Amino acid sequence: MKSELRKPEWLKMRFGGAAHFAATKMLVSQNGLNTVCRSAQCPNLHECWSSGTATFLLLGDSCTRGCRFCAVTTLASPPLPSPDEPERIARAVGKMRLGHAVLTSVARDDLEDGGSSAWAETVIAVRRENPDTTVECLIPDFKGDQKALERIMSTRPDILNHNVETVPSLYEAVRPQADYERSLEVLRKARHDFGLTTKSGLMVGMGETEDQILSVLDDLADTGCRHVTIGQYLQPSPRHYPVQSYVTPERFECYRVYAEGLGFRNVQSGPYVRSSYNAAASLQPY
Ligand code: SF4
Repeated sequence: MKSELRKPEWLKMRFGGAAHFAATKMLVSQNGLNTVCRSAQCPNLHECWSSGTATFLLLGDSCTRGCRFCAVTTLASPPLPSPDEPERIARAVGKMRLGHAVLTSVARDDLEDGGSSAWAETVIAVRRENPDTTVECLIPDFKGDQKALERIMSTRPDILNHNVETVPSLYEAVRPQADYERSLEVLRKARHDFGLTTKSGLMVGMGETEDQILSVLDDLADTGCRHVTIGQYLQPSPRHYPVQSYVTPERFECYRVYAEGLGFRNVQSGPYVRSSYNAAASLQPY
């Protein structure tokens, strides 16, 4: 299948200033770090890196899952995570003077703990090296492994982010190894068992209906989640799932209004929005 849709005007690439871009690029490469900005081909890369921000990708650059929307490389058995990655990330956060550090990772279903120990070590290292920096963890579902989830949640990140990504009827087609209810349960656990500020996100333009999007927002609100990102899905390559529609800025605005009506505190809804875009805006505890 190939996407035949032409990109609308509101999705033409923007370029920000280059003030910090080169510095961010050098820092990431000199420290041997992976970023989801690059691995997932984020359209905001130039803008974010130019403003000195990036989202670190933990546990290597290869994922054990094969979601059809994601540009990250899939491998059944990627190399073992580097033991000094937590320290390298912590140092990079300091050098970039990040007030808010966003951490995410590939899924490592091949590891016994799903990579949760490395996750916890990274949060602790970032905090130790940068006591004034807030930390957001955008985590995978760890196949619902309660111990793995608790290991991370007990580090008490300032924001616990877990994306539902799309509406439940599309899971089989685009993320067959995930489970919508399981993802809701991750958010519920973080909020109700740990009292964390929770956040989630989804992409639109994958063939879902508007009512299905509203229903996902209802479900998220029901878990206690109060921060959400909604962005346009973009096909990373011809072998990925094709874009089914380009959602208009007006429709994104309708989703924002609906979500705010449900009690969401921070709703980032727009064509370029990604789960870590303007992430510090979600730093409102509730
Ligand atoms: S939106 Fe997030 S993933 Fe994209 S470039 Fe910015 S920090 Fe990186």
